[in-house]
Amino acid sequence: TEPQASAQAASSSATAVKQIKNFINGQYVAGQQWFDKRSPQNNAVIARVAEASRAEVDAAVVAAHAALHGPWGRMTIAQRVDLLYAVADGITRRFDDFLAAEVEDTGKPMSLARHVDIPRGAANFKIFADVVKNVPTEFFEMPTPDGTGAINYAMRRPVGVVGVICPWNLPLLLMTWKVGPALACGNTVVVKPSEETPQTAALLGEVVNAAGVPPGVYNVVHGFGPNSTGEFLTTHRGVNAITFTGETRTGAAIMKAAADGARPVSLEMGGKNAAIVFADCDFNAAIEGTLRSCFANCGQVCLGTERVYVERPLFDRFVAALKKGAETMQLGRPEDPATSMGPLISQEHRDKVLSYYKKAKELGATIVTGGGIPDMPGDLKNGAWVQPTIWTGLGDDSVIAREEIFGPCALVMPFDTEEEVIRRANDNDYGLATAIWTTNLSRAHRVAAAIDVGIAWVNSWFLRDLRTSFGGAKQSGIGREGGVHSLDFYTELKNVCVKL
Ligand code: NAD
Repeated sequence: TEPQASAQAASSSATAVKQIKNFINGQYVAGQQWFDKRSPQNNAVIARVAEASRAEVDAAVVAAHAALHGPWGRMTIAQRVDLLYAVADGITRRFDDFLAAEVEDTGKPMSLARHVDIPRGAANFKIFADVVKNVPTEFFEMPTPDGTGAINYAMRRPVGVVGVICPWNLPLLLMTWKVGPALACGNTVVVKPSEETPQTAALLGEVVNAAGVPPGVYNVVHGFGPNSTGEFLTTHRGVNAITFTGETRTGAAIMKAAADGARPVSLEMGGKNAAIVFADCDFNAAIEGTLRSCFANCGQVCLGTERVYVERPLFDRFVAALKKGAETMQLGRPEDPATSMGPLISQEHRDKVLSYYKKAKELGATIVTGGGIPDMPGDLKNGAWVQPTIWTGLGDDSVIAREEIFGPCALVMPFDTEEEVIRRANDNDYGLATAIWTTNLSRAHRVAAAIDVGIAWVNSWFLRDLRTSFGGAKQSGIGREGGVHSLDFYTELKNVCVKL
């Protein structure tokens, strides 16, 4: 049965704004304060969100500990796996509710959320249920001086209560990417969604209850970062491990918070990803992939491309094709099937992106296309829209080539040799992902091996097998999640040594 208090419960009055509450111990609860959530499309207030104070955060952590010692903690792996499958099926059953909530919070095209965000939200529960069920642990036999020998085997045990801090760009997808494996491993979670995207995490509470997951296993507390819910959660000593996705600066703050109590962290952070396009590439595939990697989700993808290195003989032709592609992007309402790009997440984020558009101009960049605010009709004028933008004419030292902008923009630069492009692609503080476009197989493998990143794609982008490792090198991350790597973070591995 559905809980009485609904995350989506709109008030009976048509003019009243809906309330999004915290989800603690299986119940929707308010906080002491509310904050407004605005639409990225037109800046209208779409919801009032309950901000969790220290008291609600504490209640969530206490509930999560109680659940660890309750029926959840006593379940067999098979029982847990069944519940995770039921949660995945619950998301699929309420697909349209999740779709509407995600699109309302982010303004992203419905076609994108329908094909990426929501299906992956469900898949994240199934894949980690399968991993937990199927991945064995190690076993070693050893000799002993008396000749009888000993055996060693490893057991996985949950780490406890996991604090999950999430960003706004792919809200359900990135949250379940952590909650799926955390629960599969037998932990309980307290999730802090981004203040920009509270709805799908709250809605998942209804699905979790309906699936029969015991209260306290999945908790959600809403609010901001510093001096708010995020800080209260990461500094709470009842939280046994913290997993985070977001900006590198925030990750560093969370690492400091986690040092108190020496608690483990998994950090998935920013990027300034390079695409490397060789003259022998499949031109159409490289253009299609690069357009997607620059502009998908309005450029708000951690794995997205903001630096494009193109081998000189192809440079002019490639820039011309990128310009054409950027200019055919359709900015519009999410429900319009012709829309290929939505707004940025907020006015605040738009100010940041526009400040880079301004800097590029001041630095003398050639603005191949875009560079400003599009002329949007009606109420959309008030939204956080920006034009897809391509620059040339700046070098690797410019802030445009060095700092993560997190908008629909890229700097395209020519290169002459493989050695040179490897050096230039690596000359950056970040090291999350790269996309290499070439039909020369040996070169593809050589370059992939030489780029300092966690994820290297050859002739593709955002092609994800969820069993593979995911994470960033350098300032893009600490640790790896995905497949068995998630088990390494979400469990304590215990060695049992038995003398025979
Ligand atoms: P952000 O760092 O501003 O916020 C992320 C989350 O941290 C939010 O929930 C926020 O409220 C919380 N937070 C902020 N300060 C905090 C503090 N001091 N203590 C505890 N919590 C705090 O990031 P964002 O703007 O939401 O997301 C965009 C960033 O995320 C980009 O840098 C992008 O590259 C990165 N990202 C990385 C990956 C990855 O897998 N590596 C994936 C998606 C996004």
